[in-house]
Amino acid sequence: MNLQYQGQNMEYSLQQSRRKTIAICIESDLKILVKAPLQVSEQEIQRIVEKKAGWIVKKREELAKHQTERQSRQLSDGRRLFFQGEPYSLRIITGEAKKKQKTENRVEISGKTIIVYTDQESQAEVYHNLIQWYYEMARQLIYQRTSHYNERLKESINRIRIKNQRSLWGSCSSKRNLNFNWRIILAPPEVADYVVVHEMCHLRHLNHSPEFWAEVEGILPDYKSDRQWLREHGNELMEVI
Ligand SMILES: [Zn+2]
Repeated sequence: MNLQYQGQNMEYSLQQSRRKTIAICIESDLKILVKAPLQVSEQEIQRIVEKKAGWIVKKREELAKHQTERQSRQLSDGRRLFFQGEPYSLRIITGEAKKKQKTENRVEISGKTIIVYTDQESQAEVYHNLIQWYYEMARQLIYQRTSHYNERLKESINRIRIKNQRSLWGSCSSKRNLNFNWRIILAPPEVADYVVVHEMCHLRHLNHSPEFWAEVEGILPDYKSDRQWLREHGNELMEVI
């Protein structure tokens, strides 16, 4: 059966059975299926479907958008990834992970490609190896940057933790514990530095007072552009993987 809507031609299939109501379904392949009771005429069905045309178009667009999003999230060859603010393309090499015992070795950068080695071709293993590697890279970077800035700040730090969160970039507690999100490894190095310095300055001022910001500015005079970068792109990095 056919349906015209705002110059668009939409085909739908009709399935009549011993049911009581009419249902319009958008299938996963975006085809339209109308289920109707036996006693309703095709003309009547056509009239009802026409009335619902706007809704059908909207639903189909939503579903299509959802599907593309899911596909772009899939970890397959060519998928765009980030590392220290630079875009990379993913490449998966299957059947070689066992030879590479350490997590650091299960992923490597070659030119503009991030290569992930796996034993089996499974999304879960690619994800696991990739996240473990990001996490390890983040840990190394954060430890190195905190000790670098602490040569100047000379604050006592109780513990540094690398966390997996989708909201905070970092935090500092009154017990002098510093927490950082591993996703700062996805951001440009100067932005990662800003997050490190921001949390370290909380060791002196556990607030966002003018004194706190003066402390940050004393170490990173251009911190405002890094903070702005995080405001503009932070959400994207939180969602990317
Ligand atoms: Zn803060």
